Amino acid sequence: MLKTIAGFDRIGEENAFAVLARATALASQGRDIINLGIGQPDFRTPDHIVEAAIKALRDGHHGYTPATGILPLREAVAADVEKRTGAAVSPDNVMIVPGGKVTMFAAILMFGEPGTEILYPDPGFPIYRSMIEFTGARPVPVPIREENGFAFSAEETLSLVTPKTRLLILNSPANPTGGVTPRAEIEKLVAGLAEHPHVAVLSDEIYGQMTYDGEAHVSLMGYESIRDRLILLDGWSKTYAMTGWRLGFSIWPDALMDKARKLAVNAWSCVNAPAQFAGLAALTGPQDAVHAMVAEFDRRRKVVVEGLNAIDGISCRTPKGAFYAFPNITRTGWKAKPLASALLEKAGVAVIGGPDFGILGEGYIRLSYANSTENILRALQRMEEFLRETP
Ligand code: PLP
Repeated sequence: MLKTIAGFDRIGEENAFAVLARATALASQGRDIINLGIGQPDFRTPDHIVEAAIKALRDGHHGYTPATGILPLREAVAADVEKRTGAAVSPDNVMIVPGGKVTMFAAILMFGEPGTEILYPDPGFPIYRSMIEFTGARPVPVPIREENGFAFSAEETLSLVTPKTRLLILNSPANPTGGVTPRAEIEKLVAGLAEHPHVAVLSDEIYGQMTYDGEAHVSLMGYESIRDRLILLDGWSKTYAMTGWRLGFSIWPDALMDKARKLAVNAWSCVNAPAQFAGLAALTGPQDAVHAMVAEFDRRRKVVVEGLNAIDGISCRTPKGAFYAFPNITRTGWKAKPLASALLEKAGVAVIGGPDFGILGEGYIRLSYANSTENILRALQRMEEFLRETP
């Protein structure tokens, strides 16, 4: 019998991939499935970005690059982050990684071990908890509450810090709730963290450019007092519809940058070169496609929220960011996971049960509105019919 380390008995998964596989299997049997499950833009990567990758291949960029990424791209990331957050960033602190998830993996691996604690949002992206469990650290959920607009509460978050806390994971705009933490709460949190200098912060801002109703995204990068222990997670997947390219970036404080670089050298060497040239074109080229995508998500957001609230037993807050709706389904009488499963199997609508995002996810389902308005309307109609006809 092969014996692996205990972490592999604890590591979890992202159920959105299992739902995607099931939805694809049902569709291949001829079923008409509407997929509101997976969190990826339904748009193609803009043409000028694709062309930049093709040109890079034609120009012979076929080899390894520096482990932290090509310098022009790190410079472009530094300039972009500086423009969006006002923080001065050196390209020496930028690391290009194969997808946003890899920053999460690296940061949690860097801080988690038995005897330590890591704070993470619940409900939240499932990989946070999975990776924390893998390291043997104690996962400490930070409750993200509907009555608080699905924002972090600074007071509640700070109350969970102990001498054993090594890392605090923040995510705004958030998956799965679409919640955006307002400036006042972030300022309180940053001020409170001054009393806990032993706690590093991983700020997952992958949806940072997707906010609505004039809601500002407040980046943790804007706060000088925590820059020496802040890891920023961001990337191209959502903003530029590039989930399949596996391209992300992180900003690391001086004290951690070399450790992150060494992890890259050990694990993935570098990100594939043409994708890096594509990322450069994305940052330095026209941003019209990004604005158009966000405007389209905004239109669909209104359709999905209005449609959900019209269904008996469902209530849905208007999400302020990302491209997810997280309706409360408790009054339907269903538990979230059985409802998600029945909607897929019986009504042909793929959604994710809230418990896949944490204990506080019970009573909710997640719908991604990264699908056409026509499909969203068809899905809402099927959901309404299913709930009306199924006791
Ligand atoms: N962080 C959050 C909150 C996400 O929702 C996702 C993807 O769904 C990621 C990170 C990972 O992004 P990537 O596809 O770039 O690895």
